[in-house]
Amino acid sequence: MYHKIWVSPTPGITIDKVERQQAALQFRQCIQLRDAYLYKPIVPEQLDARLQKFQAQVRATPLAPPRPPTDDTSNTLSVVFGDDGIGRVTSTNTATHDLVSTYKPPFTLSEFNRDVTQVWAAAAGKLTRSFAFRRLRMLDVNYEFHTLMNETYELNSTKNDKADFNQVTKVDIHLHAASAFTRQELLQFIKTKAIVDKDRVVLADGTTMGQVLSQCGISDVDDITTESLDVAANASMFHRFDNFNDSYNPFGAKDLRTIFMKTSNHIQGKYFSELIRDVVIDRVQRQQNRVAIEPRLSIYGRGGMAEWEALSNWIVDHQVLDLDATTGATTGHVRWMVQIPRLCNIFMGKAYANFAGLMKNIFEPMFLATLYPDKYPKVYAFLAHVGGIDCVDDESNHDPLLMTAADTPACQYTTKANPPYSYWCYHIYANLFALNRLRESKGLNTFHFKPHCGESGPRHHLATSYLLAKAVNHGWRLDLEPAMQYLYYCSQIGLGLCPLSNDSLFITLKNSPIGKLANRGLNVCLGTDDPLQFHNTNAPLLEEYTVAGHFFDFTATDKSEIARNSVLMSGFDHHWKREWLGEHYMEMNDVLANTQDKSNISNIRTHYRHTNLMRELNYIASLSGMAAATKATATGAKAAIGYLTLAGHTFPDPQCLKNVMQSMFEQYQSYEELILADNVATQDKDAASLVQLATEVGSVGGVKVEEVAVGETKTSSGGGEHDESIGRSRRKTVQYLGRKNMMMGGE
Ligand SMILES: [Zn+2]
Repeated sequence: MYHKIWVSPTPGITIDKVERQQAALQFRQCIQLRDAYLYKPIVPEQLDARLQKFQAQVRATPLAPPRPPTDDTSNTLSVVFGDDGIGRVTSTNTATHDLVSTYKPPFTLSEFNRDVTQVWAAAAGKLTRSFAFRRLRMLDVNYEFHTLMNETYELNSTKNDKADFNQVTKVDIHLHAASAFTRQELLQFIKTKAIVDKDRVVLADGTTMGQVLSQCGISDVDDITTESLDVAANASMFHRFDNFNDSYNPFGAKDLRTIFMKTSNHIQGKYFSELIRDVVIDRVQRQQNRVAIEPRLSIYGRGGMAEWEALSNWIVDHQVLDLDATTGATTGHVRWMVQIPRLCNIFMGKAYANFAGLMKNIFEPMFLATLYPDKYPKVYAFLAHVGGIDCVDDESNHDPLLMTAADTPACQYTTKANPPYSYWCYHIYANLFALNRLRESKGLNTFHFKPHCGESGPRHHLATSYLLAKAVNHGWRLDLEPAMQYLYYCSQIGLGLCPLSNDSLFITLKNSPIGKLANRGLNVCLGTDDPLQFHNTNAPLLEEYTVAGHFFDFTATDKSEIARNSVLMSGFDHHWKREWLGEHYMEMNDVLANTQDKSNISNIRTHYRHTNLMRELNYIASLSGMAAATKATATGAKAAIGYLTLAGHTFPDPQCLKNVMQSMFEQYQSYEELILADNVATQDKDAASLVQLATEVGSVGGVKVEEVAVGETKTSSGGGEHDESIGRSRRKTVQYLGRKNMMMGGE
């Protein structure tokens, strides 16, 4: 039980209705576009037995992942890169020809150009902006009321569960490997190497460690400090990403960056591997307050398979993984990301002749290692530990939404300047789409596309990522675009926000919208970005939570919510997500997904969030006149019910529901009678699902069902994972009804 607002509109309100309908229609079309673009596995991860088996074996023997089973098609598949720079899987076996043709991305470059223009135009429209502004403000006011009235209830309700904020897993979803260690850690490491490896040759020209340090003016390592290291963020970096990039050079020396922070150098990245494995990973493994990390390593597309092999050798040969010393299995602390820097200005005309060549350099090795694991065993092994692909650069460089000749095929793009963000992202998305379909068909892990976006520079980057990305890193600039922000809210796109990084580079904490975004219910996660530059303690991610907690007045429930978001946004596999969030975490309904003993989030909060989101989706659907996609006749009910699907949620058409509820009343006299009927879940499946659907939109306020014991509702027969999950949801729905929960009203 908790306090809720119920706003009942006076019947007949028509002011601005036509404008609101037009805005709602544009929002709905954008959401549906994203739904169509986003890569979704054909079989959900938790139901894919082959994938689960593969991942279990990868966890057990991380350096030698099992090969996918060979089948008739294995020897007939190959990958071809066309003029568009996108990999296509082909088959010489006519039987599988049709199958592999489905691997191709669902939209062409010109279709994407059309659609991203539509999304950006919608986001920039007057009607949509004022509509979104009002809806977002309502979310603010709702939240304010919610916490004022319910904070104590929320905290009390988690006091006796089995979790607390220390125990819940917090994933650092935004972390660059080259700066994953703190200044103190790097300083200590350099000091150690200066003594024990003084005479080791560390550069190709024969220079030793001792000589490099003396060239930097260091005669006695006892004298050096974190300040002389000169990597900490400072005032010269604000809005100067170039200066920030230079800060990666310890003591201002590029050679030291090469020696300590590169995977490929004269010492084969030995020091860097020790820094990541023995310092960073060791720290998070030992940390009491549970943290997991997603560090990023770069692939520039400058060396094709050789570049991928060098990186993979580094991971595998140095065992840069979260291995358990006793069992050799992984401990669930590290999932890798690969970041693609946008650097045509450096490599065009050298490492590749055109943009198609660049894409081929990046993606062909990933296809080949998937198709021929025995030929490229280390790349294959590394890919088993990769959860996603990022795309990075100084976003503040100006670029247009589209080039003048926007549909230029990648083979004809030879300019030294970077093409626009949208062009980059489309090509990465399209390659990943095809690659993911291929990997999924073999029971292998797939990769989320999670680019840097909305940190600085043009705001239309947010429109590109809205269509193409699973989640984004940064994204605070949504604050400047209400309609875009509303879309990110409705689609619940993960935001890997980094308040301390922003504070030094682009927006001070004082002006940061992060607290507001989180309170409204956007899918906010916290990451560190670069502990080397930005953090002052030996627990950078906790520092982030602590500072944000104080600065934005986050309660323990707020912080636990952010922690849960970070697990969901991460690329960790189903096993770990279930371990950290409970077995129902993948449910779209927050209430059903929440296991308080794991998440430390009050069920009050998840209910609050879910009803708010469903209200917005319903509002858009009904205002825009969305037609119900399918109709199912309810046994016993006199009306049919239509289902709507938007942003991954399926819910009953509000108009149909009204009719159905009316007919249910007539048949059963009251909702109470309907719900208490013994046969609801066993024989009268449709009636039970009506209750569930009615609950989904919160239209059954006032129903008294406390008497229904949750465990008594039987699962429908039929077996199989799908049926079980329906039965379980149904039981939970009754429980959910039992709390007499209602939604907050519309306008
Ligand atoms: Zn970053």
